[in-house]
Amino acid sequence: MAQIRIENVRKEFGAFTAVQSSTFTIEDGEFFMLLGPSGCGKTTTLRMMAGLELPTSGEIYIDGEEVGQKPASQRDIAFVFQMFALYPHMNVGKNISYPLLSQGMPKPEVKKKVGEIAEILGITDILNKPVGGLSGGDRQRVALGRAIVRDPKAFFMDEPLGALDAEFREHMSEELRALHDRMNATTVYVTHDQLEAMQMGDKIVVMNHGVVEQFGVPQDIYDWPATKFVAQFIGSPPMNFLDFQGMVGTGQSELRMNDVAIEMPEMREGRDGALTFGIRPEHVRLDDAAPYRGRVIATEYLGTTQIVTLDTANGEVKARLSSADAVKVGDQTGLRFDPRTITLFDAENGKALK
Ligand code: ATP
Repeated sequence: MAQIRIENVRKEFGAFTAVQSSTFTIEDGEFFMLLGPSGCGKTTTLRMMAGLELPTSGEIYIDGEEVGQKPASQRDIAFVFQMFALYPHMNVGKNISYPLLSQGMPKPEVKKKVGEIAEILGITDILNKPVGGLSGGDRQRVALGRAIVRDPKAFFMDEPLGALDAEFREHMSEELRALHDRMNATTVYVTHDQLEAMQMGDKIVVMNHGVVEQFGVPQDIYDWPATKFVAQFIGSPPMNFLDFQGMVGTGQSELRMNDVAIEMPEMREGRDGALTFGIRPEHVRLDDAAPYRGRVIATEYLGTTQIVTLDTANGEVKARLSSADAVKVGDQTGLRFDPRTITLFDAENGKALK
């Protein structure tokens, strides 16, 4: 197990900065997600932790030891690039035992260790089978077995489930999480899939254009996004944004949007100017008596819920409602926002106001 700390780590490739100065800590035993869109710098960040890429500046600590300029071989970690990459000419047992045999571990010890790992992964009955004929799930388990057999301090995984179809992916992500909970080894996992990050991660770092936008537990990131980028990247449909000119004062718990008074959480920070009102679809209710008005322009049936899109003076709003609610295109109605869940952003820099 290992604690990993990234301090002011930056990576340049020539004139291009792939990762801006980043700082965060991954605690011992955490399942930690690096999340962001393609090209945001998450793979580069992971590769720097693993020692496959050296930072241009900044420090990387594993269990308090600065390893930033050390190669991967001196970091005692396992990198699961692509779970399907197995040695095709070896059987399952040989694939898993290979890392130990090449380290010079005596054969009886290797056999015992491989037996234990096979037990954990539930693949004892296929140890003698060639890897060629295995199902996708078993191949994945064997590749995992090969990674965990050395008891590394930490695991690094880069989109390990990326190539799988949706249903199988869901199944494997549950297995991976369960395996982590049994072994408790620090795991750093790269994904661009916000749902996967929310479901699997103890903590998430959200990156965009090489910048760490937010770092925290999934629920805080969902409920209290630090920036508009995070609010939009996480959640489906994403948070609604309504732009308006306005003023909020410190200690104020009501705002005026187009002269309509809306209750909101008490502000610790005031602002006067271009603001963005943020509300998640599940926190919007339709109520004829509410003063903030809209017109239904679309409904999308999703089984137990429906997504209703409304046109308002400040832009479109999506509401997630029960499918039992009778709503039809053309309805004029009021919108009520759950006050505790409103986030106000500075429209210019995209940062959430406190
Ligand atoms: P993806 O999910 O597409 O892999 P990512 O978030 O993992 O995206 P990185 O692979 O870390 O992003 O890349 C971040 C940026 O750095 C990209 O613009 C990429 O083109 C660039 N980059 C990565 N490696 C190199 C390299 N060796 N030389 C030059 N540019 C690089």
